Amino acid sequence: MKIAFLGTGIMGAPMARHLAQAGHDVTVWNRSTDKAAPLAEQGAEVADDPAGAVAGAEVLVTMLTDAGVVEEVMGSAAPAAPDGAVWWQASTVGIEGAERLAALAQEHGLTFVDAPVLGTRGPAEQGELVILASGPADALERLAPLFDAVGSKTITLGEAGSGSRFKLVMNHWLLAVTDGIAETLALAEGLDLDPRFFLDAIEGGSLDIGYAHLKAPGMIEGKLPVSFPLKHALKDADLVLEAAARHALDLGLAPAVRERFARAAAAGLADEDMGMVIAATRPRR
Ligand code: NAP
Repeated sequence: MKIAFLGTGIMGAPMARHLAQAGHDVTVWNRSTDKAAPLAEQGAEVADDPAGAVAGAEVLVTMLTDAGVVEEVMGSAAPAAPDGAVWWQASTVGIEGAERLAALAQEHGLTFVDAPVLGTRGPAEQGELVILASGPADALERLAPLFDAVGSKTITLGEAGSGSRFKLVMNHWLLAVTDGIAETLALAEGLDLDPRFFLDAIEGGSLDIGYAHLKAPGMIEGKLPVSFPLKHALKDADLVLEAAARHALDLGLAPAVRERFARAAAAGLADEDMGMVIAATRPRR
């Protein structure tokens, strides 16, 4: 399939690589060209601008920061896309964002597939993302080989919009777990205990969670490779709160978690990994 891939950041670059390696004809574009250029070695073509990337494409993929950025990039790309092309919107954009982008797709005669992804840098690099797919059944069927190329599982949710709603459910879980691990480690430190005892205690039991073993050692040392930038976690915490307000839901945990991520971002950790929220989680004396 002829694919235009817009946004080759932490997640987009490995996804585009897997699509090219699966034999698709991939053209990539990224605002900072240094992140797109290496994909030429995987057989991808590198476009100078979004419109150049989408010309002649059957499928457009966006993997950009947020709804505003997707809107901006697709605003210039969509008029150059062939009528009837399928747009796989994979970025995390929230409920209102997905609605705005669906309207943009309709305006330009594109078939909108709302399919954000679950997983971070590692799963993206290994082609083991979980695709939260929603949109017209025939378009999802067309995209199935693409989903298989970047993911290990596709969950089909229904009409476009349900993928973005479900992504918020999953990110609420992720943010709460990350903050829970961070505060638990910080509490142990605050009680003059080695926080590594926490990992020993949960290991292999029903309270165990692989994510704790993945993130906690780096959180304790204050050194984590950036898999999920903290600023994006804060964006997602805001999207969860917006969604809850829109559906008249009174969440208790989400505002506290959001406050922690906001505090960490304000402390200069926005570009660090989300696990560095631990720096804002240490209990005050
Ligand atoms: P990232 O590495 O920060 O990539 C963001 C992308 O957006 C880059 O291509 C960046 O271009 C581009 N961008 C930002 N502002 C732009 C602008 N004004 N105009 C044009 N392009 C712009 O982030 P990521 O982790 O790949 O995340 C991408 C999306 O996936 C986000 O919605 C995120 O929430 C979601 N997501 C992330 C993860 C994760 O664990 N990382 C997991 C699931 C979903 P430059 O390279 O030029 O900055």
